[in-house]
Amino acid sequence: MKRTHQDIRRVNRFAVMRHVIASAPVARRDVATAVGLSMATTADIVSELHELRLVTEIGQQESGGGRPRNLLAPDPDGPRFIGVDIAETYVHVEIFDPALRVLVRSEEELHPRHNPPEYVVDRIASGIHTVTAELGIPLDRVLGVGVSIPGQVRPDGRASVFAANWNWRDVPLRDMLVERIPIPVYLDNPLRASTVAELWFGAARGLENVAVLTLGTGVGAGLAVRGAIYHGATNTAGEWGHTNLVIDGLQCRRGCVGCVEAYVGAPGIMQHLEQIDPKSPLLHSDNQTATINALGTALTAGDPVAEQVIAATGRYLGIGIANLVNLFNPQIIVLTGWVADRLGEHLIRHVRPIAARYALDEPWEGTEIALCPIDRNPVSLGAATLVMEGFLSEATASSRS
Ligand SMILES: [Zn+2]
Repeated sequence: MKRTHQDIRRVNRFAVMRHVIASAPVARRDVATAVGLSMATTADIVSELHELRLVTEIGQQESGGGRPRNLLAPDPDGPRFIGVDIAETYVHVEIFDPALRVLVRSEEELHPRHNPPEYVVDRIASGIHTVTAELGIPLDRVLGVGVSIPGQVRPDGRASVFAANWNWRDVPLRDMLVERIPIPVYLDNPLRASTVAELWFGAARGLENVAVLTLGTGVGAGLAVRGAIYHGATNTAGEWGHTNLVIDGLQCRRGCVGCVEAYVGAPGIMQHLEQIDPKSPLLHSDNQTATINALGTALTAGDPVAEQVIAATGRYLGIGIANLVNLFNPQIIVLTGWVADRLGEHLIRHVRPIAARYALDEPWEGTEIALCPIDRNPVSLGAATLVMEGFLSEATASSRS
């Protein structure tokens, strides 16, 4: 497959902007070296980014006798980006500067049993109003809003959400949002938002072939190929959580039987605990968060029941990862999501030997498994980064054609 000229330019813009964010203050020459572009191409892209007010010059660096070099950084006075993380119980809104640093955040609670699309759109609009008002800026200072919704998002912006008490099928969410918030809206799910965050700020920075596994109540993967998100034919690539592990096995929330999610999602982990010790004090029935937290604490204390639960979970996850490694041959597999946050370190201990046994040697030796290193909400960060990527893909600086 040949990359088009536009693809190359887009990927190069992403790489330069990422590097300026990560290494500011930084000289053009060091950016060129780090991203592997010529000085001329780098200078060209930097002047585009400067014109788009994403990058600015912040002083000079002496360079042993030669001319001092101008140093680059993301423009703190540049445009703003909004990232929205929608979950079953909350709408989390953050507003970012061009370094993708959070300036202000807002959290709106969602009613656990009442979530028609109009109500959720209303909460999103209200959160956006709160953060722009608090910063004292009009909406047109914001380049766009990235929205992550837990479900499947079609290329036309229609969303289906499969969560307890939500009954969204093909809701025209992007149109509804644009009607309320008249700026560009980028809509996707948390799997892909987290993956973009890993590519720009996390364990996958600078890598090309990447799988980011979200472990929570649901389980899924975000895939990146050549450093860009892989969408598939209908934007549903990465439903690895519903690939089969056990014929006629346990059922997941979506109703499929024996899938990875049924054994590795929070409800699956609770089932392992219930089987190993039905009377365990670690088990808080009907409360996934409390049970997973209790398991995390017990593991740190060396509790033998918790260790058995994590071994059982790690066995299923390890086989699921081996299948993914054989199919996709990624350079890195990153574990993210709230279950990975609490249990990830212990899971990886068990996953590594199992995956090594079930995967073929060649792809296995080319991959590593890591925990998400991002110390803030990777979903809203990734949603805002979708806006940055969309803008960099579409924007044309006035000096360019
Ligand atoms: Zn399933």
